[in-house]
Amino acid sequence: MCSGRVDLKFILRAFSNGMDGVFIGGCRLGECNYVTHGNYHALNMALLCRKIMEHIGLNPERLRIEFISSADGILFAEIMNDFSKKIKELGPFGSSEGIDKDELNSRIQEVTKLVPYIKIAKKEKLELRLENKEEYEGFFTSDEIDELFREVPSYYINPEKCQACMICSRRCPVEAIAGGKNLIHVIDQEKCIKCGTCFEVCPPRFGAVQRISAEPVPPPIPEEKRMIARKSKKKEAA
Ligand code: SF4
Ligand code: SF4
Repeated sequence: MCSGRVDLKFILRAFSNGMDGVFIGGCRLGECNYVTHGNYHALNMALLCRKIMEHIGLNPERLRIEFISSADGILFAEIMNDFSKKIKELGPFGSSEGIDKDELNSRIQEVTKLVPYIKIAKKEKLELRLENKEEYEGFFTSDEIDELFREVPSYYINPEKCQACMICSRRCPVEAIAGGKNLIHVIDQEKCIKCGTCFEVCPPRFGAVQRISAEPVPPPIPEEKRMIARKSKKKEAA
């Protein structure tokens, strides 16, 4: 119903399904039917996605966003004709950019996996309302996107500090944390989508989850060493 629902993931999925171009159509800016004014968000998301496409070697002109009212039939037809002409000129997705299919899929999958991190890292800018077209260009810069990908964090559970309270494993949206009662928890780095939830929810008195940037993640503690030996209350009292 609203262009504000268009997520970075939807755009990437369309490209990974082999679309040569993606068009997002929204209501005119400032004329949204909802208080949320989701079309401003869609605009920022598209501007961000175009820069990310550039970063991974794809032509950003394959993604276009326009704001058109339902009364603008002729304008809509003109824009669509213009966009399909552009896409035909650009040629097939990937091969025109000189990227083979496997490499293309791997680049898109890699970015797709990082979408939660990207949305959190760019949250404040995604919420801004750009009123003038002049602001679009340079809203997200290439340096900023390079930095975004350079600083992708990893999350690691310090086995010395984990108290197996199980909060993080319950809250992880992709079941990337292995653990259980009295077991030191461990993050599967392959499954982790860098959302940072475990870091946020680990009780401060334990502070077991670490955010690591630009450093290798320590190897996981071996399975046979994950059991936490707890002192019984009776023994403690004695
Ligand atoms: S950052 Fe933590 S909560 Fe988020 S996906 Fe990775 S392990 Fe799960
Ligand atoms: S929330 Fe912290 S203490 Fe609790 S299981 Fe996870 S890492 Fe361990």
